[in-house]
Amino acid sequence: MTSAAPTTRLALRGDLLDFTAEPVWGEVESNAVRFRPDHWLLIEGGRIVGAQLVEPDASWVKHDHRGRLILPGFIDTHVHMPQLEVIASYGTELLDWLNTYTFPAETRFADPAYSKAGAAEFVDALLAHGTTAAVVFPTVHKVSVDALFGAAQQRGMRMITGKVLQDRHSPDGLRDDVVQAERDCLDLIERWHGRERLAYAVTVRFAPTSTPAQLAMAGALCAADASLYMQTHVAENRAEVKWAGELFPEARSYLDIYARAGLLHPRSVLAHGIWLDDADRAALRDSGAQIAHSPSSNLFLGSGLFDWRASAQAGAAVSLASDVGGGTSLSMLRTMADAYKVQAMAGQRLTAWTALHAATRGGARALLLDDEIGSLEAGRTADVCVWDWAADPVSARRMGVARSLHEKAFAWMTMADDRNLVAAFIAGVARHRRTDTETASASA
Ligand SMILES: [Zn+2]
Repeated sequence: MTSAAPTTRLALRGDLLDFTAEPVWGEVESNAVRFRPDHWLLIEGGRIVGAQLVEPDASWVKHDHRGRLILPGFIDTHVHMPQLEVIASYGTELLDWLNTYTFPAETRFADPAYSKAGAAEFVDALLAHGTTAAVVFPTVHKVSVDALFGAAQQRGMRMITGKVLQDRHSPDGLRDDVVQAERDCLDLIERWHGRERLAYAVTVRFAPTSTPAQLAMAGALCAADASLYMQTHVAENRAEVKWAGELFPEARSYLDIYARAGLLHPRSVLAHGIWLDDADRAALRDSGAQIAHSPSSNLFLGSGLFDWRASAQAGAAVSLASDVGGGTSLSMLRTMADAYKVQAMAGQRLTAWTALHAATRGGARALLLDDEIGSLEAGRTADVCVWDWAADPVSARRMGVARSLHEKAFAWMTMADDRNLVAAFIAGVARHRRTDTETASASA
């Protein structure tokens, strides 16, 4: 990790790309896209203060990345810190995958030293993939939450997380109970929520692993403090949906289990949402909750194909998520490429604009954080990444013949990955730099 005092005045030269509005579904010519080729992005005191064509004066530390792409850092709205160890595990669907691979891996995070090392490695891995903000599941263990918040705080990162609640249908070493869980949540909220760039999420693993009493406790926490986030999984896999229905027969649908417990609100992040109906989508829209679409995970575990357009048409917010370790890469670019393929299977076309927007400004808006992150607008915190348009001969050849901006951006989104990342800045401080790249040195 590179650590440095925040440079007072920093100017980054490159092709600036961000969004000023939500792109219309299917439109490749979009007024929502703001492309400023070969501009200088000006950063002062950790914040973006402007952008200009002319080179700024000598009072600025200048990083010349001409010919490269500069984007707001990506926002991953659903990813599991302890699951780096289970990526690419063979041969199961969701419920078997949890029991066979994931639960055993998560029990190891009861150990504070293991949690601390795992959290540091995880946060650095996010940065090395161009993700500068995330909504994260740690484990049921309080120490895993302290470790994750601590690692994010050290790096100045925007992070939303909270202790995983699961008091049934979980193995020994991975179960809590309502009383102790509430005590742990209240203590963690007191110590971390709203501190610097950290926020607490009431974190329900998923309805089948919480008793009705635990869901009620989680709902009460949300009701007591509207600034808290809530994260969980919903309607990912057909066997899971059926099981949830059997456990909560009084609920109209899987999503309705959460609605009845007071867990659907503007700061709710629900992963997957594949098996939803129109009434569910209306409930999402009315509550302001969002779906964290996790295409890589959905394909890998064979969970199903998310109907993004139906959610968009219903007015429900959709953000993008890697869902590692169900997902196979922390790269939001790999995630976008998979999202395109999922929509293609359903006869839909996902533009680069809708995908890139969801991973930046759209995710920020869904989290009610768009005044802080997600764009290159003056006043935003300078969480920005510098990317190579092409990092290998095949991509370079493809980029070389692209005629329109969308064609180029789409080919980039489809072919690029973490090897294209040159540098990741958090609040104007370089927290990740590709080791083979020395062109980022200060130059006048
Ligand atoms: Zn997940």
